[in-house]
Amino acid sequence: MDINCTEKELFVFEKIARAAAALEAPVYLIGGFVRDKLIGRPTKDADIVCVGDGIALAHKVAESLKPKPLVSYFKNFGTAQIKYEDWEIEFVGARKESYRAESRNPEVEPGTLQDDQLRRDFTINAMAISLNAPDYGQLIDPFEGINDLEAKIIRTPLDPLRTFSDDPLRMLRAIRFATQLNFTIAEATLNAIREDAPRIKIISQERITDELNKIILSAKPSIGFDLLYRTGLLKIIFPQMVDLAGAEYIDGHGHKDNFYHTLQVLDNISRNTTDLWLRWAAILHDIGKPATKKFEKDHGWTFHGHEVVGGRMVPKIFTKLKLPLNEKMRFVRKLVEYHLRPISLTKENITDSAIRRLLFDTGDDIDALMTLCEADITSKNKQKVKRYLEDFELVRQRLKEVEEKDKIRNWQPPITGEMIMEKFGLPPGRTVGDIKNAIRDAILDGVIDNNYDSAHDFMMKKAAELQLVPVK
Ligand code: ATP
Repeated sequence: MDINCTEKELFVFEKIARAAAALEAPVYLIGGFVRDKLIGRPTKDADIVCVGDGIALAHKVAESLKPKPLVSYFKNFGTAQIKYEDWEIEFVGARKESYRAESRNPEVEPGTLQDDQLRRDFTINAMAISLNAPDYGQLIDPFEGINDLEAKIIRTPLDPLRTFSDDPLRMLRAIRFATQLNFTIAEATLNAIREDAPRIKIISQERITDELNKIILSAKPSIGFDLLYRTGLLKIIFPQMVDLAGAEYIDGHGHKDNFYHTLQVLDNISRNTTDLWLRWAAILHDIGKPATKKFEKDHGWTFHGHEVVGGRMVPKIFTKLKLPLNEKMRFVRKLVEYHLRPISLTKENITDSAIRRLLFDTGDDIDALMTLCEADITSKNKQKVKRYLEDFELVRQRLKEVEEKDKIRNWQPPITGEMIMEKFGLPPGRTVGDIKNAIRDAILDGVIDNNYDSAHDFMMKKAAELQLVPVK
């Protein structure tokens, strides 16, 4: 073998080799598995291509394994999959694909190994390893993928314009692989992406977002976003982010380029979390800035209320990108809306009540919010960075102390809206909300104690002011 394999892998490859020999169908390992093994990256699924019937081969392999794994197959696509322990193995018959301008789906016919390698997206993804007796373990690399792997280059095996026009998703895959592997996209390939970018519109939003999330989950996502921006793809798939780019000058006053600031925040947070949604919060934290930007004679550039406007943009962006509209979205929105709050707590003489309020408003998301705020420090001045980080460390300590004392994180006031409605015979509405909020604020501000009796007395006083009479 030209690659290092585990015993389990070698055992299964032997079984595949035997099954393929019995079917007289030459068989090869191909694609991402070969690529990742060659660069010593952890591998996931293995792709197997055979010159013959891929589904028949999968069944034959399954029969030789104990316990016999289930074979899932798709007759229309001629592909099959088996799961062996924690491992997925995909089988496909070698094929030749030809695209026509009028149709998005290629015409597919059985082909040789070379035909199958030609339909692959990048040279580094087109390498195969033989599992056949005469040359078992040998690398078959018609496009010198191994050289590109060494030089860390993403390049298409065929004319890139043709490759991307045939399947525009490959443009995003090129950028995704460049980001995940920290590779460079070959100049001609990059130029072709620029030229073909508008064709991305024919790809489904789900597949686009899938690639976008893979870029976001990479160690340094800014590589991908910078490429998406420079090729014009970002303008098409996520225009709000492009609106952050650029710095305007008036009377010699400029503001920072919020696109590159955002990318830095995203890279910063990616060093501290692998959570996709916290990374999305970093991407969107300043998304409201272009809409709120003003130049004020006495203050220079301001972005008042950008956190609120940004928060409102979150559901719209999530809808367009087909991201989930559930608690993940609410989490991102909350972080966008609150991302300036901890800064206000770094000033002197901060009261317990201000700290309690933030704990109440953010609940269990307080740690994520602090992580976002720390990532938001992008000053080039080392002294300043150190001071800001120390300030946030003090805020974290205060949060801890107040939480230990008052247990506010998942607290609910002792008097609920239902209790108020029942007491005064009120329908749901503004008055009930006003009384409920007044009780909550009085407790958070330390005006009254946090218990039922104090809250009840306070409610009665408040109700009397509003000339409400208890019904029982
Ligand atoms: P990863 O598992 O990290 O996504 P991978 O290279 O295994 O990487 P897959 O999407 O599983 O990616 O694809 C397996 C192989 O199939 C690729 O290595 C490539 O050879 C081929 N391939 C996948 N998608 C395309 C495409 N859109 N166009 C051409 N070839 C593709």
